[in-house]
Amino acid sequence: MDKIIMLGTGNGVAMNLYNTCFVIQNDIGNFLVDTGGSIEIIKRLNEVGIDFKEIHNIFISHSHTDHVLGLIWLFRKISLVIKMGETIEPINIYCNDVAYNSIKEILKYFFPIKFIELIDSLVNYIVLDDGDKYSINGINYTFFDIKAKSTKQFGFECILNNKKLLFLGDETLNPVLYDRFKRFDYVMHEAFCLDSEEKIYHAFLKKHSTTKSVSEV
Ligand SMILES: [Zn+2]
Repeated sequence: MDKIIMLGTGNGVAMNLYNTCFVIQNDIGNFLVDTGGSIEIIKRLNEVGIDFKEIHNIFISHSHTDHVLGLIWLFRKISLVIKMGETIEPINIYCNDVAYNSIKEILKYFFPIKFIELIDSLVNYIVLDDGDKYSINGINYTFFDIKAKSTKQFGFECILNNKKLLFLGDETLNPVLYDRFKRFDYVMHEAFCLDSEEKIYHAFLKKHSTTKSVSEV
């Protein structure tokens, strides 16, 4: 049975929630979708019974801090474990070219060359093009560009337990995608707030959506 385990549902500057990220889990393994923005990713994984050392497939939807920086903390924890003599299986990271470049730049500016070499020896980056298909833990994923107005962002479609799932990231939905929605049983999208709260939080100004605006599509 395939499961979606939410690790966080907070927005990019949430104080009391962890940033939005989740795991798709089955008998074969764990597929981490985004990493949040801090070392709390390790704690959140622990809380749902997942050892960070057992994550071998990661998708980064886009290069915003609250989706990508948790990855750096995962790298730090992994490097410590390796220094203590443990062996870690290779990690596949699926992301678009902008996210890939941002990960590499962060590593370049904040970490010594030895650390970068160690991570490079462990990580296999799969730089995604629109429409690329990969099988991860026995599940077929099609990754696609959500045509975001800010930084380049990818979502994916897949079938979990015979139901079609569409994951659309966190930006205001682009109307060019509306036709795609019709073919799915479940659509996951990170809405910013309730429609009634729009006047307080200004979701659209922040290039996000309200729950009502998404569900009406
Ligand atoms: Zn974002």
